[in-house]
Amino acid sequence: MGRFDGRVAVITGAARGIGFGVATRFAEEGASVAIVDLDEASAVDAAGRLPQPGQATHIGVGANVGSSADVNAAVARVVEELGGLHILMNNAGITRDNLLFKMTEDDWDLVMNVHLKGAFLMSQAAQAHFVAQKYGKIVNVSSTSALGNRGQANYSAAKMGIQGFTRTLAIELGPFGVNVNAIAPGFIVTEMTDATAARLKLDVDEFRRLSAEHNPVKRVGYPEDIAAAAAFLASDEASYITGQTLYVDGGVSLG
Ligand code: NAP
Repeated sequence: MGRFDGRVAVITGAARGIGFGVATRFAEEGASVAIVDLDEASAVDAAGRLPQPGQATHIGVGANVGSSADVNAAVARVVEELGGLHILMNNAGITRDNLLFKMTEDDWDLVMNVHLKGAFLMSQAAQAHFVAQKYGKIVNVSSTSALGNRGQANYSAAKMGIQGFTRTLAIELGPFGVNVNAIAPGFIVTEMTDATAARLKLDVDEFRRLSAEHNPVKRVGYPEDIAAAAAFLASDEASYITGQTLYVDGGVSLG
């Protein structure tokens, strides 16, 4: 008996990285999972690699979370093919780092579009189902960069915006049986952090070693660390928790 038996979860940006780690954990605990990602073939491939205990079915759906047409079609497809919707994780993300004086308008707009507009559109489409059935869980993905990070004015603003968005949705949707929380990861080993190492012209292992040195637990994080927190927040064990941002960062945000 898994915590998510009979539940349907949709996770954006889940063809790899943190999202795939969360999808794997939800599937292990019995959920039917829809992997939503930009490239449908990658999403389908990732869905095919998820564990399948019991009756669960998984699908991969290609969608750009910044497009309302894509989002509405994706959510409708998930509900039709998997028979409902109970959990949404807004995880899709990109970085376009640069110091303020070099940041282009496109760098700003793209980051806002994926993180903030994407979370808005997906949550709006999902809440129609959640409110009607008086049950739903939304887990948003913020970041320790929300607290400020050199070269990430766009990303930092978006990730702090996610925290305000989370608190507001918690207030609006709580009376309808919907919990809305966020996770703010610290350094997690994924292609995103490997790309940052490349941009900084650092060896990947050296970048990870330096990042581990910066937090009290002296290690980097892995998608499984975020998956454990997401599974808790999306479960009924967390039904009295809403509007919160949980930092899963080895304590780096403590300063
Ligand atoms: P990742 O490995 O780069 O994976 C992100 C996924 O999102 C990719 O599969 C990407 O697809 C997809 N995606 C990008 N834009 C999209 C869009 N418009 N619509 C749908 N899917 C889209 O990143 P990650 O490290 O797992 O990060 C996941 C989330 O955690 C992000 O929100 C990120 O900001 C946040 N986060 C990460 C860290 C970290 O240390 N890794 C720390 C704090 C917060 P493509 O491959 O096709 O681009």
